[in-house]
Amino acid sequence: MKKINVGRKILSENEKYAFENVLFFHKHKKLCLNMISSPGSGKTTILIRTINELKDKIKIGVIEGDIQTDIDARRIKATKAPVVQINTDGACHLTAPQISAALEKLPVDDLDMIFIENVGNLVCPSDFDLGENGKVVVLSVAEGDDKPAKYPGIFAKSRVLLINKIDLLGAGTQVDFDIERAKDDARKLNKDIEIFPLSAKTGEGLAAWCDWLIKSAQNPASGFTA
Ligand code: MG
Ligand code: ZN
Repeated sequence: MKKINVGRKILSENEKYAFENVLFFHKHKKLCLNMISSPGSGKTTILIRTINELKDKIKIGVIEGDIQTDIDARRIKATKAPVVQINTDGACHLTAPQISAALEKLPVDDLDMIFIENVGNLVCPSDFDLGENGKVVVLSVAEGDDKPAKYPGIFAKSRVLLINKIDLLGAGTQVDFDIERAKDDARKLNKDIEIFPLSAKTGEGLAAWCDWLIKSAQNPASGFTA
């Protein structure tokens, strides 16, 4: 039997929309970061703290993905940042067509950058390109330092790793998390990954992450490889 190679990649529906979103962000010169983590790692709290910290420096809009409820979107709204809620109605990841529709509801020209908070799931959101300029993976210390080794896909694809809840570390704590091990394992998968240990609760480590964001928002295409 002869094998026929059509020599052309047929794009999936998601890839088509992702490519349109890439063009949208390029045309509007906006940084868009796709935040991915397990449930409960602190994505929303990091966003709120970051928005408040950068209030006078850059304007941030948020696309909030959840399976159900608008609990997180309402928390973001309290910061006065523009926010659009997507409910996936059971699906455990966001898709590029959903982002394309949400962008029409955001005042994009008034913003410096857009965060997408993906559905809490460390596995399959990494397989759905949304057209973003970069993925930010969040790992909280309560989840364990073995996660980069156990879930390599998302760590290999992310531009940034935020190690959250570092305020739980230290003497007398129940939490056993080796930051150096997590960093080494993440860098083995992705030598260029930027890593910021922080606590969205106490604000420790937040300044370095915010500085990186300001720089990246000024030059959204930097580090962009798709
Ligand atoms: Mg959340
Ligand atoms: Zn999924």
